[in-house]
Amino acid sequence: MTVLVKPQKLADVKVREFSMLIDGKWVEGVEAGTIERVAPSHGVTVSRYKSATKDDAHRAIAAARKAFDTGHWPRMTAAERAGVLLKAADMISARADEIAYLDAIEAGKPITQTRGEIAGAVDIWRYAAALARDLHGESYNTLGEGTLGVVLREAIGVVSIITPWNFPFLIVSQKLPFALAAGCTAVVKPSELTSGSTLLLGEILMEAGVPAGVVNIIVGTGAEAGVPMTSHPDVDMVSFTGSTGVGRLTMANAAQTLKKVSLELGGKNPQIVFPDADLDAFVDAAVFGGYFNAGECCNAGSRLIVHREIVKDVTARIAALSEKVRVGDPLDPSTQVGAIITPQHLQKIQGYVSGAAGGGATVAHGGSQIDFGFGQFMAPTILSDVKPEMAVAREEIFGPVLSVLTFGKTEEAIQIANSVDYGLSAGVWSKDFDTCLTIGRRVRAGTIWMNTFMDGASELPFGGYRQSGLGRELGRHAVEDYTETKTLNMHIGARTGWWMPR
Ligand code: NAD
Repeated sequence: MTVLVKPQKLADVKVREFSMLIDGKWVEGVEAGTIERVAPSHGVTVSRYKSATKDDAHRAIAAARKAFDTGHWPRMTAAERAGVLLKAADMISARADEIAYLDAIEAGKPITQTRGEIAGAVDIWRYAAALARDLHGESYNTLGEGTLGVVLREAIGVVSIITPWNFPFLIVSQKLPFALAAGCTAVVKPSELTSGSTLLLGEILMEAGVPAGVVNIIVGTGAEAGVPMTSHPDVDMVSFTGSTGVGRLTMANAAQTLKKVSLELGGKNPQIVFPDADLDAFVDAAVFGGYFNAGECCNAGSRLIVHREIVKDVTARIAALSEKVRVGDPLDPSTQVGAIITPQHLQKIQGYVSGAAGGGATVAHGGSQIDFGFGQFMAPTILSDVKPEMAVAREEIFGPVLSVLTFGKTEEAIQIANSVDYGLSAGVWSKDFDTCLTIGRRVRAGTIWMNTFMDGASELPFGGYRQSGLGRELGRHAVEDYTETKTLNMHIGARTGWWMPR
């Protein structure tokens, strides 16, 4: 088994109440409906939100439209916008404990991890501030005596930002600061399961000096609040992170008015390991890649593609290390794996495990839920003897479940790695430079880690191939993603026209 950390009773649970932010005001919503969030680790209500209807979404879009078309934000200097973003970064840092607590209690994530995510988010806000001041177009002085060409980068307009529950504060921070840096205005909808930290961000942004209407935050379901955000004609761009299924719907809705769409979707990421690798480092990364965030991670390294010569030894070593993983109370600083987001999701994960066991895979470790009497938790699980065609080798389980597959030749490993619909990230483990580069060039994924896994930096672009998404976040082009390109084609001197004599 793993090491269990039973959640301590929450002393004096105060249910935190949140309103939504529209046009600079905290409002109740047209129907004043509410959504309650029950902590997945403790089974008690911890947050209550005002839930948005379609009309609220329309009001938020109208506010963002007005702020873009007539407001100060898109018209101020980039230096002024950067100043506001830097102030926001300092304020996020000052309230990091409060934000980290909200993400931990609403999402069931370990508190040490959420603190790391907030620190990472602060860095992104600062990076976006730096990029804001360097946003520029191009000029062409090479088009002949009579022509000067200038290419402008203009803010794209109103952006809908829709985020999932698995990294609530980090993911909104991968989008919003860059949209703001470009001069856009936004309507933001966090997941209805984990909206607290995004609403705190709204408070911070208002205090940091973001003008009314520039950032609007609504809470609600996808069907009610999300659909208008992806289909309303006044929205110019949709930046979505979530499941591949909803990503498809988002694109279809946005297609009606041909909005620009950026999609960060699911993954089924392989880690390929060769016999010459540093196996101690690999085993650690396999456990981290599989169980980090309880496996509820788009980047989870959920497919281990292991060379046949070492598969027995490596599986045994991963199982032994899995015994040491500490699962349970997200508020205990020693916990490494927290709770599963909802009871329904836990059932789905268990369905995958029992389906695989019934289909010929072996449960080499874990395989069942952990019962503390409240909340929902899943034991770190290893499935061996997995074949590439099984559902657990192809579909995103989104739980702490590792599937072990085998290969003989490098070509076979590449073929297995590329055989799924996803292409978000991959890892390769070998001391041989040629092996790493061959895998790095041939595996079709947006990020390839070599002798490491799930590292990242604000400077490095992130996103997926194929059904893992469209576009890239972070990196030096992140602000450009929220712009339109405009060509100024200028004529110098007397123009020789169509009808004019030459
Ligand atoms: P989800 O697709 O169910 O929901 C994501 C967001 O979309 C939520 O805010 C939800 O309310 C909203 N939504 C739902 N239906 C909608 C609709 N019809 N129109 C508009 N919005 C709608 O995803 P989830 O369960 O919250 O998150 C898990 C998924 O997110 C996984 O598939 C994971 O791989 C993916 N993810 C991807 C990345 C990445 O960067 N590639 C990062 C994190 C999570």
